[in-house]
Amino acid sequence: MDSLKKPVVAGNWKMHKTITEARSLAAEIASKAAEVREATLILIPPFTAICEVKKAVEGTEIKVGAQDVFWEDQGAFTGEISPLQLKEAGCEFVVIGHSERRQYFGETDETVRKKVLAALRHNLTPIVCIGETLEEREKGQTLEKISSQLEKSVFTLSPQDFQKIILAYEPIWAIGTSRNATPEQAEEVHSFIRNLIAERYGKTQTSCAIILYGGSVKPANSFSLIREKDVDGFLVGGASLEAESFLAIAREAVRKNEG
Ligand code: PEP
Repeated sequence: MDSLKKPVVAGNWKMHKTITEARSLAAEIASKAAEVREATLILIPPFTAICEVKKAVEGTEIKVGAQDVFWEDQGAFTGEISPLQLKEAGCEFVVIGHSERRQYFGETDETVRKKVLAALRHNLTPIVCIGETLEEREKGQTLEKISSQLEKSVFTLSPQDFQKIILAYEPIWAIGTSRNATPEQAEEVHSFIRNLIAERYGKTQTSCAIILYGGSVKPANSFSLIREKDVDGFLVGGASLEAESFLAIAREAVRKNEG
């Protein structure tokens, strides 16, 4: 059952690409999307480019997401973006709690929790990021950190809501560093997360849960990572900024379910 899940490959473009550049990257990926129909592709451009990216992928199965969301629907919150606005712009997914938001913009497990609820209220699928720092890993605190982040941000959800979210394990020391977690390191944390889900929500929920790995995923390391039992796909930063490397990762991801 687990092995037949469609791998998810999401490209987080961060603060890269003007509208023109985003349109052209999305169109290039869209032109070849049929080759990787067995994966769910999600493009996550900056807010300004969401509408154009949505138009560029029309007629394909590619989905569009946003990089953050605020927890209120509207109001005096200068600079924020609401789930309503994202929904109308064409988003189906939203990244919440990315480590760069936590590190530079004061995101906490509590704000992640509120944003997840807001996203779910509007039928946006949250992609919730969790992960440890290098210092925490070196001190042997990785699993403790993961467990604490999950407890405070998403394990408060009802079972019905929990099954609507995607988790992304992103060790902070692996993001943008060209130093990916080894397949064994990724699997250790992914299977730990799956066990926690089983304890909290039961066996069925855990086999359906989608847990992505993120952190220096490249075409060359993606097959060894996706081959791990509990890795269901990727959240890709740098390598999603070029169509060929993003598609190459998706091609590797679909091999998980081949033979
Ligand atoms: C990310 O930003 O979520 C990420 C995983 O980045 P990179 O692939 O560049 O490490």
